[in-house]
Order: sequence, then C-alpha cells, then structure tokens
Amino acid sequence: MTHLTDKHGRTITDLRIAVTDRCNYRCVYCRTGTDGPLYSDLPFSDYLRMARLFLELGIEKIRITGGEPLLRNGVVEFVRELSKLRTWRGIPPEVALTTNGHLLSGLAQPLKDAGLSRVTVSMDAVDPDRFARITRVSHGYESVLDGIRAARSAGLDPVKVNCVLVRGFNEDQVPAFGQFARQEGIVVRFIEFMPLEEDRVWSPATVVRLEEILARMAEFQPLVEIPRGASETALRYRFADGIGEIGIIAPVSHPFCGHCSRVRITSDGKIRTCLFSVWDHDLAELMRRGADDATVLQFIRGVVDRKEARHHIGEPGFVPASRTMVHIGG
Ligand code: SF4
Repeated sequence: MTHLTDKHGRTITDLRIAVTDRCNYRCVYCRTGTDGPLYSDLPFSDYLRMARLFLELGIEKIRITGGEPLLRNGVVEFVRELSKLRTWRGIPPEVALTTNGHLLSGLAQPLKDAGLSRVTVSMDAVDPDRFARITRVSHGYESVLDGIRAARSAGLDPVKVNCVLVRGFNEDQVPAFGQFARQEGIVVRFIEFMPLEEDRVWSPATVVRLEEILARMAEFQPLVEIPRGASETALRYRFADGIGEIGIIAPVSHPFCGHCSRVRITSDGKIRTCLFSVWDHDLAELMRRGADDATVLQFIRGVVDRKEARHHIGEPGFVPASRTMVHIGG
C-alpha cells in the first residue's frame, strides 16, 4: 500500500471532513461579517465514499468538523458508518469531532456508542459574560460546560478544549483556563489567532504569541514541557505539580507546516490541501460525473501531491485563503 504523500515528502494521515458550514455561534474571530452558510451540505453517503477512498490511501484519523457539525441530523449515524470502515492496517480509523459544544450534552453518549473516540470543544472564555461577548450568543456558557462534562462521563478520551486567543478579548483568561483544565480534568489548548475570519480584521497585533501565553500561565503555576508526537500541532506542557496539562498551537509564531499531515474536505465536497489554500479541488463534482474509484483515487493523489509547502502569514505578498474558517472546518 503506497501512502498518500506530497511533493515535500510529507505523509498525509489525517483527514478532516466538514459536514456543514452552518453554525449557531458568531465568534468574533471567525464570523466577523454577515455571511451565513454559503455552501450546500452533501448527503452523508458522499462523505462516506470519500472517507473510504482516503482510507485506502493510508489515512488513519478522521475528524468531523463544520461550521458546527452537531447541527447536522444524522451525524451520530455518520460516526457509526465511519467506524465500520477500515484503515490499511485492517482496524477502524480513529474518529474525532470538533464542536462548539452547545449541543454536546445530549449527544455525547450516542456519539461514544457509535464509535467516536475523542472530542475537541472550541471554548474561548471561562466566564459566562466574556463567553457571550466572544460568541455573541447569550446563555451558551452553561450548555458548553454541560457538554464537556457529558463528554467526560461518556468516556470520550481525551476531551480537549481549544481556545483561540485574540488580543483585547481574552488574553487575560489564560490563568483561569489553567485552573479550569486542572479542575475539569481536560486538556486546554491555546491557539494563536490566524487570518481566516470573514472580514479580514486580523493583524499581527491581535495575535497573542506562544511566549506571552507561557508567561501568563507561569504567573499561575509553573509548567514543564512534554515531548510531542511527530505530527502533533500543539506544544505540550504539564503543570509542575503534576495536576493538569495545557497545549499551545502556534501557527503564526512557530509554524509546524514542515510536518503537516492533514488535508480537508469542505462541506460541499472540495479538497483543500491547506487551511490557506487559494483554490479548491472539486471532488464532489468528479463523483457526480460518475467517476469510478480508480479515477477518484488518482485524482486525490494528484491533488495531494501539489499540497502547499507552508502558509505565508504576515509575509509581504501574503494572499488570504480563498475561504474563511467557518467555510473550511478547523
Ligand atoms: S498552514 Fe497549511 S501546511 Fe501549514 S500546518 Fe496548516 S494546513 Fe498544514
């Protein structure tokens, strides 16, 4: 079995599938404009065929994203069908999900029973007022907290929280998130703000960088760095007293493109080889035209071979991605 690789010698093992670009939140670092959903969702059977073919090419992990994936009826059944597929090793793929957590408390157990192994919840503040200011949704905080706790009780493991830090909105929340991680028994990962929001308000000044995050957390509790896996995006730290772990995903100040192992499928069935791609590759159209598996496999190999070497955030001549985050999926 020849693995899926690109011309830079990277092996692609992680597939992210966005099952909708609809979302019930309007986070300030993402849906800054007035765009609603722009693309039509595909039937789950289409995503399933795409997943099956990518697995034949060596994909090992599948992450379901959005928009907000739990808004799609049938997502539990989709997890069940994905879990019935096999990787080249003859084992089920690892199936994970990224959600804003608003609908998670009622779905955590059914998702676990269907074969979901891990979940990441996007949460950018640990106080209800600040949470409402960032998501522009009132009364969301309690729902998300319930969702995180339900995920833990259901046995999803790990349960991680991703917090996008945006200067002027939540950089002061770092120590409180440290306390939250220890208290709730979950891993909190801080993410540097990337220019993927709707009306392009990003600037280098809005980024809270790795060094500042570490300095803010050290005021709370000393940290010890933990070695990370080859394709892991997060730098990992545990608290020196052994209670709790955090991570930092620093694509702006410490890019990790050199060992990127990911490709994405958008909710309307386009392959995106990089978050910052300036074009899409229409897999759904190829399938609609009746292409057989061999043709689709060859198409995927050709597209991935041309995967971008890296992003050019903050560089002269940086060209923004052709889609914003809500229309790509994390
Ligand atoms: S910016 Fe593109 S190449 Fe870099 S890690 Fe992200 S998806 Fe991979």
